[in-house]
Amino acid sequence: MDSFLKSTEGFKNTLKLIETINRSTDDYLFIWDIAADTRWFFGDIDEYYDIHKNGSKTNSTQDMLRVIHPADSAAVLESLGEIASGKKDTHDMDYRWITKSGQPVWINCHGTVIRDENNEPYLMIGRVSEENLRHLYNPLTALWNKNKLRIDLKERLLSKGFLMLLDINSLATINLTHGRQYGDMLLKEIAAVCEKLPEVEKAYHTDHNHFVLVTGLNSQEAVCDLFGKIKNTMAEKCTFTASAVPIDKALFIDETQLIDSLNMTFKKAKEKSSENIEFFTIDDLSKRIASLELLEELKQSVENGFEGFEVHYQPQIKANNYELFGVEALLRYNSKSRGKVFPDEFIPVLEDSRLIKDVGMFVLETALMQCKKWRSVLPNLHVSVNFSALQFEDALLAEKVIERIKKANLPGDALTVEITESIELHSSTALLNTITYLKRHNINFAIDDFGTGYSNLGYLKQVNVDEIKIDRIFVSGIESETYNFRLISNIIEFARANNIRTCCEGVENTKELITLEKLLPDLFQGYFFDRPCTAEQIEKSYIDSNAEAYKNRLMFINKIYEFKERMGVVHFDPQKILRENEIGLWMIRISSLDNHYELHIDETMKYLLGIDTDMSSLECFEYWKNNIQSDYQGTVAQYLDKLRRNECPDPIEFVWEHPLGRVVVRLSGKRLHDTNSAIVLEGIYRHLAKI
Ligand code: C2E
Ligand code: CA
Ligand code: CA
Repeated sequence: MDSFLKSTEGFKNTLKLIETINRSTDDYLFIWDIAADTRWFFGDIDEYYDIHKNGSKTNSTQDMLRVIHPADSAAVLESLGEIASGKKDTHDMDYRWITKSGQPVWINCHGTVIRDENNEPYLMIGRVSEENLRHLYNPLTALWNKNKLRIDLKERLLSKGFLMLLDINSLATINLTHGRQYGDMLLKEIAAVCEKLPEVEKAYHTDHNHFVLVTGLNSQEAVCDLFGKIKNTMAEKCTFTASAVPIDKALFIDETQLIDSLNMTFKKAKEKSSENIEFFTIDDLSKRIASLELLEELKQSVENGFEGFEVHYQPQIKANNYELFGVEALLRYNSKSRGKVFPDEFIPVLEDSRLIKDVGMFVLETALMQCKKWRSVLPNLHVSVNFSALQFEDALLAEKVIERIKKANLPGDALTVEITESIELHSSTALLNTITYLKRHNINFAIDDFGTGYSNLGYLKQVNVDEIKIDRIFVSGIESETYNFRLISNIIEFARANNIRTCCEGVENTKELITLEKLLPDLFQGYFFDRPCTAEQIEKSYIDSNAEAYKNRLMFINKIYEFKERMGVVHFDPQKILRENEIGLWMIRISSLDNHYELHIDETMKYLLGIDTDMSSLECFEYWKNNIQSDYQGTVAQYLDKLRRNECPDPIEFVWEHPLGRVVVRLSGKRLHDTNSAIVLEGIYRHLAKI
């Protein structure tokens, strides 16, 4: 047969013809003389693959094993054996070849058998294609990627098993500490480990740090064991988190549902803890179906001009007089099929689908227009709008917000943008730029749900927020929670020192109110005052003084005062009393090492001394001392000496040269416990009369 082929003119012509055709394709065409096991490949195959031995123009199946990936060679040999024995007439297989540089490449090999006059397999003509598969695998590990997973699952869904998502914990950190090359090696090693496990039908490298494994295992226990095996094998190098979903046509109608559920379960695994495997439950399925249906409905609503969405408003009440400071806009959704749906359910769906960007703008616009309208009666009314982190992905967000403010003809500080503590504001310059731009237009920023996230006070200062909203979980039952009380107290003290407004959320009863009032926050928000309500209800309670609700509200406030009187509740704000009576506080630190005097003063005293620039405490002391009228310099010096000696002298009065004219002042003080090798004096300071 061999000599017959070579001598045949027809065959030579055939070879020539194929060679010509090969020029117009990126594939490699081939002919395989089956009985003689001789292959002719066409095209520039030698450039990339070590397919021919020593300049030979043909090769044998044994030679092919040099380029076939060892993990695939057994399957390829089996298929070729079936062709040679006449069992099969077509060969159609995806497998890996190895390039001259050692890189695995997925190829598709397709060939058709031609039989001779005796019906024996005689020739196979076919092609090897790299291009068809290039988008279907990960070049680093040479495992199939997520595109291929989708394709395969269509068919795989017909028989049962499990799909497992394997996530390498902290791969980014591993890359950072050991170098990217090490990270790549690790990925290759994990790929090889997974592929070799007999329980794994097929392994996919779906994302940088994610692998998906298909297995025919039929119980959760068996899948747990498989996960344990992988964890143990790699234990010295990395850890994993995983999720698993049963492959079951009865549960998932298509591969998209299956993959989405795998990802959803994975999210749950990550939230719970790392180094764990989480299984999909039926409960998850009904939640998923409900959220898919909801998504469809929400999409429709957005398209139909936000049909079904409604903005409600919850009052924010001033702590000092129970008047209305502003309202927080809270979104509501009326579903055609399910009635009222609450934000905790639909906001995540809007976020996942990015619909939140449009809906967020709708809330902003509605709330600003409403605020403008109400300002005709309540000229200083504020409105707070919740912004989701995703909205800050829009580089034009700041401009859009300013445009809406202008359209509503409102000053910037009418709007407070509420963002949750979980947004890492300093993590992105784009985000910081947006905030800086909005702040330049006087728009206020509030940190929502404070205490539930990073709770980093220093960071609040860094991003220059205007308001802190203390989360309900700290407020609830505050009258008996000493720890929470201390915590809120610290937050409020910090905020006051930094000119940040504080709002206690979720105040539900008088006990909570009275306890919180001791801490002097600025605002209250909660069911005790009002639930979130429609614009119409706000108008009745706060705008229309003839409305029943308006009168009821005033009566309610009176009742609070009456109740407090009965309970004997009196709150002092010492700072406020001092400020309003123009009593300044001072502290002098005298260094016992070099006898330097530092003068530290509060805001009121700063005002009394006519200081409007920044001064160090040393400069401040010099300034104050130098402006003591010369006749009194000695008296004041003696007075300070007496304090130093701990003699408790009576207050003194003297004349001081204020930039705006002479004043008579009274100074009184005493010596405190010394700190850090310094003598500390402190006291009060007030103007008695102008001269
Ligand atoms: P949030 O911003 O913390 O809003 C306050 C939530 O606490 C509101 O829930 C409000 O009804 C509830 N609340 C107020 N006072 C009390 C109280 O005294 N007791 C109790 N138990 N709850 C109280 P709501 O309206 O269900 O909103 C839930 C969350 O949905 C909001 O939490 C906010 O994060 C989000 N959300 C609402 N509207 C929007 C929006 O327009 N955009 C964005 N991005 N998120 C929104
Ligand atoms: Ca909020
Ligand atoms: Ca909140």
